[in-house]
Amino acid sequence: MEMKLSLVVPCYNEQDNVANFQDSVISAFNDCGYDYEIVFIDDGSTDGTLFALRQLHKQQKCSVKVVSFSRNFGKEAGLYAGLKHASGEYIALIDADLQQQPELVRQMVQILDDKPEYDVVAAYQDRRREGKVLSLFKKSFYRINNSLSDVNLKSDASDFRTFRRCVAESILNMGEYHRFSKGIFAWIGYNTYYIPYTAQPRSAGKTKWNFKKLFNYGIDGIIGYSTKPLRIASFLGTLTAIIALIYSIVVILEKLITGIDIPGYATAIVLILWLGSMQLFCIGIIGEYVGRTFEQSKDRPICIEKEILE
Ligand code: UDP
Ligand code: MG
Repeated sequence: MEMKLSLVVPCYNEQDNVANFQDSVISAFNDCGYDYEIVFIDDGSTDGTLFALRQLHKQQKCSVKVVSFSRNFGKEAGLYAGLKHASGEYIALIDADLQQQPELVRQMVQILDDKPEYDVVAAYQDRRREGKVLSLFKKSFYRINNSLSDVNLKSDASDFRTFRRCVAESILNMGEYHRFSKGIFAWIGYNTYYIPYTAQPRSAGKTKWNFKKLFNYGIDGIIGYSTKPLRIASFLGTLTAIIALIYSIVVILEKLITGIDIPGYATAIVLILWLGSMQLFCIGIIGEYVGRTFEQSKDRPICIEKEILE
C-alpha cells in the first residue's frame, strides 16, 4: 500500500514525550485504513531524545523514521528536513509535546480527502492559554507585520497543519537560510482550510520559547518578507533633509538680519543627538538586510543530518 500520511515531528529535548507521542498517534490512527509514518527529527537534543527515538525506530510499532542533526538548528530547520524525508501523499506538521492532538490530524486528512479544492488544512488556536502581556505583544506583532510585510499573516494560525505533497515540494523549494514558516506558508499560497484547536498543556519538559527568541522571530518575519523598513529609512532621511534645509535658511537669515552669533548650545546638542541616533537606526535597518544577504550568499546548508534511520 502506498504511504498516505507522514507526520513530521521536530523534537528538541523531548525525551519524556516521544514515546507517549507515538502511542497517541497509534491510538488516534487505529483502524484508519491507510498507511502512515512518523518522521522524527532530533534537533540536536542534549538529553536522551535520540536514544528514545532509536528505540522507537527499532520497535517499529508503527512506521518510524528518525533524522538526527549534528547540533540544534531550530524547529524551522527540523521541519525542512522532515519534509525532505516524508514520503506520504499528505504531510502533517505536529509538535512532539502533545500540545497538538494527533486526532486532529486524522480530521485534517479527512478534510483533504473530502475537499479536493483545498490543499492545506491549518489549525488555529481558538483560545490561548498565555499571559495578557505576551498576548498583547503577539497581537501587535501581527499588526506591525501585516502593515509592513508583503505577505499577510493570519494571526493565531500555527504551523500545525496537514497538506498535499505539492505544497511540501513548494516549501522545500524555498531555500532560504532564515526560515520563517508562517511567512513561507503565506508566501506559497494554496487554498487553505482553517479549523480551530485548543492547545493542550505541555505533556512534559518545557517550552523552548522565551521573549528574546520570540522577538527575534518576529524581526525575522518582518525583514524576511518585506523591504518596506528600507523605505522607512529613506523616508526618514528625506524628512530630516527637508527640515535641515528649512532650519539652515532660518539660521542664515537670523545671522544676516540680527548679525550676532546665537549661543545655541541646546540646539546643537539636540540636533547632534537626534541626527546621530536616526542615522544609527537607519544603518541598523540596512545592516539587517546586508547581514541576511551575507548569510544567504554563503549558501550554507539549512541543517546537517548526522544520522538517518529509515
Ligand atoms: N523544537 C525544535 N527545535 C528547537 C525548539 C523546538 O525542534 O530548537 C520543537 C520542540 O521539540 C517541539 C516543537 O518544536 O516539538 C515546539 O516547541 P515548543 O513546545 O517549545 O514551542 P511551543 O509549543 O511552546 O510554542
Ligand atoms: Mg509546545
